[in-house]
Amino acid sequence: MTDQNNKHQQKMQKLKAAVDNKIARATEERGQILVITGNGKGKSSSAFGTLIRTLGYGYKAGVAQFIKGAQSTGEELFLRDNPNVEYHVMGTGFTWETQNRDQDTEATLTLWEKAEQMLQNPDLYLVVLDEITYVVNYGYLALEKLVTALENRPPEQTVIITGRGAGSQLLAMADTVSEIKEVKHGFKAGLKARKGIEF
Ligand code: ATP
Ligand code: MG
Repeated sequence: MTDQNNKHQQKMQKLKAAVDNKIARATEERGQILVITGNGKGKSSSAFGTLIRTLGYGYKAGVAQFIKGAQSTGEELFLRDNPNVEYHVMGTGFTWETQNRDQDTEATLTLWEKAEQMLQNPDLYLVVLDEITYVVNYGYLALEKLVTALENRPPEQTVIITGRGAGSQLLAMADTVSEIKEVKHGFKAGLKARKGIEF
């Protein structure tokens, strides 16, 4: 064995011991709360990537897409006929398009009813609450309603919350929080949002 290879092997042995040690310490198994927030691109697509993992094992999943909905997204087109996915969208478009607070609140609460039912359904291994931070931040949905539903959900159910500006209470109750940082976004240099990539 070369000297370089020898050194590499020793380093990898140490690394393996450290990783095995960490794995041995992670013993709790239950559904989780994941928050994907921040100003960079990749929040919803990360949530839907995880949803694919869930479906890959034959588990059932639920999706509630807040804010979006006037225009279908690729994920909705792909998933809405899947028998293992319960898919609900708000259907009113972006808030700056409706420009109507009462209408947005009503649409939020109608969708929230569906979300709340999904958060009580033990058959759903994963529930994605996409862009829900916005309706909370705008005051369309009371934070306590969301917190209570998350606390009382079936123990095996994982929930992913996406959206910018997730508040401190959501961050505190989450098991895993990722903040996606914008390094750059093509839109700012004039690139049009691309079908199948951004929606
Ligand atoms: P994606 O759905 O692509 O994962 P996201 O969920 O992180 O994006 P949203 O705030 O939900 O981001 O925005 C949805 C749309 O806006 C997507 O088309 C996305 O590419 C675009 N977008 C996301 N972040 C930015 C940004 N920082 N500047 C401009 N456009 C953005
Ligand atoms: Mg998103």
